[in-house]
Amino acid sequence: MSEKSFNIDWDSIDYVFTDMDGTILDLDFDNFFWLEVVPEKYAEKHDLTVSQSKSMLFPEFKSIQGSLEWYSIDYWSDKLDLDIYNIKWAYKDKIRYLFRAKEFLNVCREMNKRTFLVTNAHPKTLEIKDFVTGIKSMVSRSVCSFDYQYPKENIEFWVNFNRDVDFDPCRTIFIDDNEKVLKSAKDFGIKNLLAIQLPDSSKDSQRIVDFNAVDGVCEILDKYI
Ligand SMILES: [Mg+2]
Repeated sequence: MSEKSFNIDWDSIDYVFTDMDGTILDLDFDNFFWLEVVPEKYAEKHDLTVSQSKSMLFPEFKSIQGSLEWYSIDYWSDKLDLDIYNIKWAYKDKIRYLFRAKEFLNVCREMNKRTFLVTNAHPKTLEIKDFVTGIKSMVSRSVCSFDYQYPKENIEFWVNFNRDVDFDPCRTIFIDDNEKVLKSAKDFGIKNLLAIQLPDSSKDSQRIVDFNAVDGVCEILDKYI
């Protein structure tokens, strides 16, 4: 997006809710982990070729995408008979911030916004990511959708989250790289919504159809603050 096509009125915003994977942290880790590492480990364990493993796993992944199980380390550990938690630890060095994302969180804090990490990541995944990046110390509070029994794609997540935190959706901005998630936030009534077009630094940008979009939070720093 080269032209400035919208504005963010920061004076009308108290809460900044930001997704973790693909918004603050590089989705490259998650894509690499699920599309390369897990199929390799599954192939080793079950005596398959990697290509056989991928053709078995990918439809399995797709069938529950967007559900709470999809984000659950425990679900996949049971289902695949792999220790997903420990395998993630082994690959933790690939976890990193997206370009200038840490600076963005600092700027939100300097603007006195209540900045929440709002993630579908499993609490055990958050633990690993926090160990590597210190991300929890960068925000006012970290919220896992597991705490509210629904993924962010479901409006019930927002209802339960709001019951707990009592934020004003009209004075909130929510940033995420997933349009389905942004849609449920919109249905709940969150006024300011922003999509991320480049969640994975190793891939091309994704096409965002229904929301204002930036390449990354670095673009917010450059153009909208
Ligand atoms: Mg994301």
